[in-house]
Amino acid sequence: MKKKVCRTCKCFVEGEICPLCKKASFSTTFQGHAFILDANKSEIGKRMGVEVKGEYAIKVR
Ligand SMILES: [Zn+2]
Repeated sequence: MKKKVCRTCKCFVEGEICPLCKKASFSTTFQGHAFILDANKSEIGKRMGVEVKGEYAIKVR
C-alpha cells in the first residue's frame, strides 16, 4: 500500500481521515520523512510547526 500524507499536517495517515486535523486531503507525492518524537525539543518539529509526535514528511506537494 502506498503511503499517503496529509496536505495540512504533513503527517503520514493510514486511515481515511487525518487523526490530527480530521480532513481527508492527502498527497502521495512527498519528499523525505522525519520521526518527531518530542515536538518541543525537535528542531525539525519546530520548523514544521509540529505539535504531536509521529512520522512526518518534509515536503508535500
Ligand atoms: Zn492533517
